[in-house]
Amino acid sequence: MLMHVLDVLMYAYLAGVLVVALRLIWHMVFKLDRYDWHYNKSYIWTIFILDVLLWPILLVKKPENLVDPSESFKQEIMGVVIDKPGQMRELDRLRKNPPPCGPIIRYRQGDSGYEEVYGEFLFSAEVLEARLVKRQQKDPAQTDDVEEAVLNWLRQRDNTLTDPTDVPDAWWKFQHVADDLVRKDNAVVGSRCMKCGKEVSFNELVRKDDRERPGWNFNRLACPENHNLLSVEVMHLLVRKSS
Ligand SMILES: [Zn+2]
Repeated sequence: MLMHVLDVLMYAYLAGVLVVALRLIWHMVFKLDRYDWHYNKSYIWTIFILDVLLWPILLVKKPENLVDPSESFKQEIMGVVIDKPGQMRELDRLRKNPPPCGPIIRYRQGDSGYEEVYGEFLFSAEVLEARLVKRQQKDPAQTDDVEEAVLNWLRQRDNTLTDPTDVPDAWWKFQHVADDLVRKDNAVVGSRCMKCGKEVSFNELVRKDDRERPGWNFNRLACPENHNLLSVEVMHLLVRKSS
């Protein structure tokens, strides 16, 4: 009798292995794309093996992942989703098919990754384009894909558009271009602090740059009320320099 029960359990487990493996393989073949495979290949195979072998645990803990495995393949580190394939997919999409762009560009950093920032900066697309070309000519080796894509986006602008055009979120590296431009008084059309709602003129910008601190160093610009408007990581020092 006991042997019979064990046999049944074994067949049930193996049947589960087969069903879960087929479901995951279907998802991997038809739902995951070249970005997933390029950036998450070993993670995908690890999840596949774990989910197939430990399907009874998955059935108890996250049964919805057996119906739709897309959640299983999302890489999470300490509760934070690390979506490298998604980021690269979006960057490629923006490069190949840039969104509409008008003569005025609006940049809001929002969250620097470390702290909330409240700046809203308006740039002239024409000045921005000229600055990027200048940066490129000065140091072609330092020009990255994002700057190249931003330049491509600016070049196909439609000057008849009246509303400011937001810099897409995926271009978070734009913060370096913004930091460079905001510090030059003729490059910005307007600056505003969204926390206190006030316009901030070039002369009112407060510079709070870190200077060779151990750890992360930031360039920071703030409004006269001390709200951060832009916060850009510039370097990471492991040890304090002896003076
Ligand atoms: Zn403010």
